[in-house]
Amino acid sequence: MNEFVFQNPVKLIFGKDSISNLPNELSAYGDRILVVYGGGSIKKNGLYDELMDLLNKENKEVFELGGVEPNPRLSTARQGADMCKEHNIDFILAVGGGSVLDCTKLIATAAKYDGDPWDFVVKKATPTDAVPFGTILTMAATGSEMNAGSVITNEETEEKYGWGGPFNFPKFSILDPTYTLSLPRNQTVYGIVDMMSHIFEQYFHTATNTPLLDELCEAALRTIMDAGEKLVDDLHNYDLRETILLSGTWGLNGFLGMGNAGGDWGSHDIEHAVSAVYDIPHAGGLAILFPNWMKHTMKLNPERFARMATNVFGVNPEGKSNEDIAEEGINKLRTYWTSIGAPETLADFGIDDSKIDLMAEKAAAHGPVGRFGKLNKDEVKSILTASL
Ligand code: NAP
Ligand code: FE
Repeated sequence: MNEFVFQNPVKLIFGKDSISNLPNELSAYGDRILVVYGGGSIKKNGLYDELMDLLNKENKEVFELGGVEPNPRLSTARQGADMCKEHNIDFILAVGGGSVLDCTKLIATAAKYDGDPWDFVVKKATPTDAVPFGTILTMAATGSEMNAGSVITNEETEEKYGWGGPFNFPKFSILDPTYTLSLPRNQTVYGIVDMMSHIFEQYFHTATNTPLLDELCEAALRTIMDAGEKLVDDLHNYDLRETILLSGTWGLNGFLGMGNAGGDWGSHDIEHAVSAVYDIPHAGGLAILFPNWMKHTMKLNPERFARMATNVFGVNPEGKSNEDIAEEGINKLRTYWTSIGAPETLADFGIDDSKIDLMAEKAAAHGPVGRFGKLNKDEVKSILTASL
């Protein structure tokens, strides 16, 4: 394993009616609360009313920023930061999926900064303070509820980057599977693909002697696949929602990455370039790209891909080369994602080859793509071409 320092201060409050803990959690902060949410799903499923009743009973002064976009935009974060400054906000409550949470992270830090929020995303400046924030998660996918990552799209320059830092950890995250019951099938599938992808990103690493991490990753993947295929045909099943919700958090709260030298993250970088240009759902892009990334990078460590094929996808290794086992495993991943309804090709989103060069350029703009794959622009191009 590589040397590492691990710290995750997020208080996770999980289970049915866990929102009843909210007054107690908020009591540590002032009364001026900014509630940040998305395009309206929380108004449809009743969470908005429940939350507002609760905040009113606590005599909180509530400000609202709705309309955070999937693939949250810089302009919305700017707006939120301005609101925090104007109204002297004491605490921000992010209510929604990863997009709402990620946008809130930039709002919280930018509220204590005089320059443009984008400076943090492109690492031109480092946050030194933040408005404290908590989350109520409504979609299992990103792990943002228990990590310090945030992904923001600059719609003017068509750039989408992840950034992070110690001020990006929520003070608490409330996870009640009940709030995820209203998630439609396509978004449920995206969540499953995203959390599996986070585990793959961490599983394909350059560290040695990581038996516990490897076993944990494989167990998590098997658990998600088993619950996931049942859930897509039984969307209101609380127990399956519960399993998938906790799996999404574990997928990217740092536990599966201890000592792994950071994992790869090249597929995420390529996907960010695709959705920066075409604004497609994050995990829709991952479902298309990741198997092609695997086929391209398999040669770097066929044993590792063969191990995944055997331990996660149940490939019988007898009498086969590592390359053949690996290939069979990757094909099984493709089949699984297709079977639950994930997209397979960029054409599924109407994307043709006209901007392949631009996307490869964006993905490789800051050097080699991924720590395990270390891809150059031409390799990214060939993965994108294979994904058409
Ligand atoms: P999302 O973009 O937050 O939400 C997707 C859609 O699902 C929205 O239309 C949302 O509607 C809807 N939705 C959410 N909860 C719902 C519910 N309970 N019932 C019905 N509809 C619901 O999805 P996400 O996958 O969680 O987040 C994606 C973003 O996170 C991308 O920008 C991606 O790049 C980023 N990401 C971040 C990390 C990280 O570590 N921070 C990791 C991976 C990806 P409303 O808008 O109406 O609520
Ligand atoms: Fe992701």
